[in-house]
Amino acid sequence: MSEEMKPKTGTCAFCGQSIFVNPIGEVTQAELDSMATDKCMCPEAQSERRKKERKAKIEAYINKHFNERIGKFVREAIAMVEDFEVDKISINYDSKTLTIWLDSDSWLHLKIQHREDDELKV
Ligand SMILES: [Zn+2]
Repeated sequence: MSEEMKPKTGTCAFCGQSIFVNPIGEVTQAELDSMATDKCMCPEAQSERRKKERKAKIEAYINKHFNERIGKFVREAIAMVEDFEVDKISINYDSKTLTIWLDSDSWLHLKIQHREDDELKV
């Protein structure tokens, strides 16, 4: 059996379980361990995956709606809400309002409302 054909195993960073992984090309043991952690079904590994997915969803939302400068501010605002430094933050921009808050079940909300006012003052 050639070196490439050998099944490779990595170790879950959380439970230490050895898991078979299928790396493409040459990979380091650290990469095998990372792949194993990504595949492991232990509660800690699953919880870590959920955290990563949540973070990715937040990043996608920020990148979809805001430029780099406002995005940076929004990330900071989210951190303040998640750390309970403030209950709710509203940011007005471009005829819209972004509101950030945590509900009673600890879900983070980011809501963009379009202000439809069409006011003329002459
Ligand atoms: Zn594990």
